Amino acid sequence: MVNNKCIFIAIKPHGMQCNFVGEIIKPFEQKGFCLIAMKLIQASEDLLKEHYIDLKDCPFFASLVKSMQSGPGVSMVWEGLKVMKTGRVMLRGTKPMNSRPGTIHGDFCIQVGRNITHCSDSVESAEKEMGL
Ligand code: UDP
Ligand code: MG
Repeated sequence: MVNNKCIFIAIKPHGMQCNFVGEIIKPFEQKGFCLIAMKLIQASEDLLKEHYIDLKDCPFFASLVKSMQSGPGVSMVWEGLKVMKTGRVMLRGTKPMNSRPGTIHGDFCIQVGRNITHCSDSVESAEKEMGL
């Protein structure tokens, strides 16, 4: 399952609380990507610390881990031609104030601390995140 045709995407708790699940999934289905796994998950502190381990020295690490525990989120794996590259373009940019209109973060977020999605940024991170 893990190859460069798969991407791990999470709808963060804040995205669920704002009822954006459908808005986030819809463009991926329309585009023709295939949803091959999906799970509602209330992530534990330990899981989140492992998921975001690369950011452990960042000043926002503690608030990120806390906000990700504010409720359930949706974990997904999408498959399709160049989904890693195209999926990241469709979603975002880390800083939503710089995200283009027409992307998920461009249309539905303003603050980086309240981003509504996560997506893997490499084949290696996708592999790790799918395992978690
Ligand atoms: N984040 C934050 N402040 C920052 C940068 C990032 O709160 O200055 C949060 C934000 O929720 C982001 C997450 O940390 O989605 C992960 O950051 P990363 O740089 O990995 O961005 P992403 O992979 O989400 O684009
Ligand atoms: Mg990241």
